[in-house]
Amino acid sequence: MNAPINPPRVRGACPGALVPMAVADGLLVRLRIPGGRLPGPTAAAICGLAERHGNGLVDLSQRANLQIRGVTEAALPALTDALRELGLVNGDPAAERVRNVLCSPTCGLDPACAPVRALAQALDAALADSPDLWAALPAKFSFVLNGGGQAPLADTVADIRFDALPGTGLFRVAVGGDQTGATPLGVCAADAVVDTALTLARAYVRLSNGRYRRLAALVAAEGTAGLAGHVPLTPTPADISLPGLRLERVLGAHAGWMGLAFPFGGMSIQWLALVAHMTPALRLTPWRAVLLEGGGSDLVELFQPTGLFILAPEDPRLALSACSGRGACDSGLTDARGDALALARVAPRLLARGHIHVSACAKGCAHPASALVTLTARGHQAYDVGLLAPAGGAAQWRGVTPARATSLVAALEAVYTHRMRADEDPAAFITRLGGPAELATLVEATVVA
Ligand code: SF4
Repeated sequence: MNAPINPPRVRGACPGALVPMAVADGLLVRLRIPGGRLPGPTAAAICGLAERHGNGLVDLSQRANLQIRGVTEAALPALTDALRELGLVNGDPAAERVRNVLCSPTCGLDPACAPVRALAQALDAALADSPDLWAALPAKFSFVLNGGGQAPLADTVADIRFDALPGTGLFRVAVGGDQTGATPLGVCAADAVVDTALTLARAYVRLSNGRYRRLAALVAAEGTAGLAGHVPLTPTPADISLPGLRLERVLGAHAGWMGLAFPFGGMSIQWLALVAHMTPALRLTPWRAVLLEGGGSDLVELFQPTGLFILAPEDPRLALSACSGRGACDSGLTDARGDALALARVAPRLLARGHIHVSACAKGCAHPASALVTLTARGHQAYDVGLLAPAGGAAQWRGVTPARATSLVAALEAVYTHRMRADEDPAAFITRLGGPAELATLVEATVVA
């Protein structure tokens, strides 16, 4: 019987600039940027602060927030003062906690994207001015304002979302999901977005009465009638068609911006300072990428040889997730990101159609769902390896070294390459060949051979 996997430690749910989270490399200070537009000089100033008061690492979260890492208790007051001078800190930590508003990063750059940034800034300000919601809303309660166009916020989950209906000036209002999965409530005009968002948030607080941690759970249990009665919406048209997200329309050179992603969303201040000086402003995205306003093909040519950035959607590093790992999180047992990059080098075909996740403990912060392959650390330099499973879930191999895990994934790549049917994705392939246990036998034979 194997020993239980190292259990994750539970900490505060949602850090901010005024309530940082303590992790292994110090305090993590999360900055919410209303509207997601960060002027180049402000980005450069944040780099200077991260160097002076942190450990030189800056993360981009999956909610498009910037995170300064490695801050000491002693340095925190000076950092907070400096951030306040930059206009990046709210007056009250409880207000900061509920300002989880995301809008389309291409607003103002893509003519087909509805003008949602001003609405997002207005909603952010309204939440900061609504003390009744500060403690009542769950920490991760979130809003999305999707302007559509070339790079819609289609795959970003929110409790309350507004999806622009192209060419109408109207928004579909939906709750509890991404663009496809959210439950539609109706349609509102742009000038009703902020009031509708606040009204629905308050209705959730009242109807939930502490029983449901997210709006999707309330809707699943009780339907939408209680919510819809609070807001004057017109019915959702039956024939609306909202486009999905395609990363080739985000990354690389486009009219108006250049999109670049950082592996795992982590960047050094040197990288951020480099791009901050090349653009009037950065747009922060939830896709582990930033957009450089006005960037063009000349910047792509400049950055491509460095290998530091991801400039094309076929880059296998985009299909990897890994948490910050040992050294950056005190639950971390392994160098998750370093081990994940080793996998990228041996599994290009698997990563072209599937997702590989490396987690430095069983919590699986970077990707809570199942992945094609998941490595879960169970000790120093030891992983459990599971197919079609989440972090901490079923595993076909227990306690293998990172090198052995890389060999297993390389063998899976070989088996898939030689036995796949035309256009068969790896998950379907595993299922066709009998499931994870059968595949494990084949992979073992390939490693030995
Ligand atoms: S999954 Fe990674 S980041 Fe999350 S608690 Fe575990 S070690 Fe830390």
